[in-house]
Amino acid sequence: MQIISSPLEMRAACKNYQRGAVQQTIGLVPTMGALHEGHLSLVRASRQHCDRTVASIFVNPLQFGPTEDLARYPRTFQQDCLLLEQEGVDFLFAPSPEDMYPQTTETVVDVPVTGGRLDGASRPGHFRGVATVVAKLFNIVQPDCAFFGEKDAAQVAVLRKMVRDLNFNLNLIVCPTVREPSGLAMSSRNRYLSKQERVEAETLSRSLCLVADVVRQGEHRTQVIREVLRRELAHSGLLKVDYAELVDPRTLETLEENTLPAATLVAVAAWIGTTRLIDNCTLRINEASI
Ligand code: AMP
Repeated sequence: MQIISSPLEMRAACKNYQRGAVQQTIGLVPTMGALHEGHLSLVRASRQHCDRTVASIFVNPLQFGPTEDLARYPRTFQQDCLLLEQEGVDFLFAPSPEDMYPQTTETVVDVPVTGGRLDGASRPGHFRGVATVVAKLFNIVQPDCAFFGEKDAAQVAVLRKMVRDLNFNLNLIVCPTVREPSGLAMSSRNRYLSKQERVEAETLSRSLCLVADVVRQGEHRTQVIREVLRRELAHSGLLKVDYAELVDPRTLETLEENTLPAATLVAVAAWIGTTRLIDNCTLRINEASI
């Protein structure tokens, strides 16, 4: 695995495969490092779909608010390199903040409506940071496919919109959420949790399972389902709910209708101590699934 920090060198390396006599497809897996099985599932999907895989590790300062956890975000670069190497990644793109944002940088990518909902409402500017860095990664690597986790469903909605609006020529492939045996969605931020907090954190996935069950049993009234979700989340004393919403998976707009449409994104975010966790499931009528 070749490790590259310069955007120019990364572009040149990809160009070799894209312009060679035998053209090869490139898959991109953007991450912020502190890798776990969720990230590795994206790498495996890329290895299946594409000839070459580029993984990136970049803790993107632009997507953190001034009071958020940028400084203490877990960084495990050596371990991450070993894991990516074992998975057969061809290139690791690991730029510094200065490589990605030279002092003269002005341009940002904003998806203001979709990107202002859910985490975009709680974390102003977050999705502007995400869209900007992902657009830059797309331009540097020019992948045929880019792989993202369903775990960050709002991020997926924002990036799908950006890809469509800006005519990016690539396939955005979304992979299922990888969970701990307890149901807890894997996340780099789970490292912040104490033993007791980890148990409380399971309330998130449990509440989503409950909602999926309720829908499977025939309950289709959005108001009732929202109440079931919020009541279950409220059981936990340690959890401070940020949002618990039923939204349109494409636009992230809160559902106003009284009955469930064909597809509904149930999205939750909560604070456990100083750690903010998110989770979600998609309800499909006749096939409630988590
Ligand atoms: P992050 O490093 O948290 O920015 O995540 C990088 C990518 O991994 C994003 O596309 C995430 O959605 C995805 N990801 C994070 N956690 C999981 C998980 N538990 N299952 C599947 N994908 C995940």
